[in-house]
Amino acid sequence: MPGYLEDKVILITGAGSGIGRATALACAREGARVVVSDLNREWSAETTEQILAGGGTAHSLPADVADMDQVEALIRDTVKLHGRLDCAHNNAGIEGETTPFHDYSEEGFDRVTAINLTGVWYCMKFQIRQMLRQGGGVIVNTSSGSGLIGTGNGVSAYNASKHGVMGLTRAAAMEYAQEGIRVNAVCPGAIDTPMADRLLGRDPEKMAATAMRTPSRRWGTAEEVAEVVVWMCSDAASYLTGQPVCVDGGSVAGR
Ligand code: NAP
Repeated sequence: MPGYLEDKVILITGAGSGIGRATALACAREGARVVVSDLNREWSAETTEQILAGGGTAHSLPADVADMDQVEALIRDTVKLHGRLDCAHNNAGIEGETTPFHDYSEEGFDRVTAINLTGVWYCMKFQIRQMLRQGGGVIVNTSSGSGLIGTGNGVSAYNASKHGVMGLTRAAAMEYAQEGIRVNAVCPGAIDTPMADRLLGRDPEKMAATAMRTPSRRWGTAEEVAEVVVWMCSDAASYLTGQPVCVDGGSVAGR
């Protein structure tokens, strides 16, 4: 039976780790031709090797999403490889420092917004140009529960950047709905990835407290987010655009 994404060309940023890697593997299992991109060359190559070892199709094109020239080249090289770009998962992101709002550093704020917000904008800009040329496509941005509500835990730049991703998602969805381009955002909750490790330092008490604040009383996995992204990219979600899709064990529903 053909997969959900049979022969579709999908580009995933931040695909060397966590949610991006899980999404790359899931898309490949569903028949997509995957372009794996990450800042970290080794991790990008590792995800690609895992896909190839499973019999899938993948290429590694490392890039820094905060650098517009690198992003433009990434989209250009993807199209050189495959002739088109059907789906893009703009997922690369950092958590930044954990500091009270009034003490947050300017450099820290600039770094988080450069990657999480401006980086997504660069990606969308060049992806949409290509999608207009070919007559449609799908974009899934990774926002967060923090893109929908205030979290109040010292990550104000992250919180603001993820709200910004929702703004980009809604703006582009409105502008390009008639051009056959769907733009949505996946909003993960507490997902057990290296980012969560960095934030909580694997402290069992903090990990358990986070789980207890979640209606499902547990952390989610990167694979659980990946399955939803596959669906959002697929033709099965053909009337979905401009939406945040929360994969969070119910966290935002209770706010
Ligand atoms: P992760 O395991 O740290 O993966 C993020 C990946 O993005 C890393 O491989 C990282 O590479 C890469 N990256 C960082 N800066 C980049 C840049 N400038 N250009 C290209 N790639 C870059 O974290 P994750 O949890 O999977 O996070 C993926 C996305 O989900 C992020 O946007 C995050 O904000 C979002 N999210 C995560 C959670 C959660 O609980 N985990 C919840 C909500 C939303 P380096 O490590 O080399 O920097």
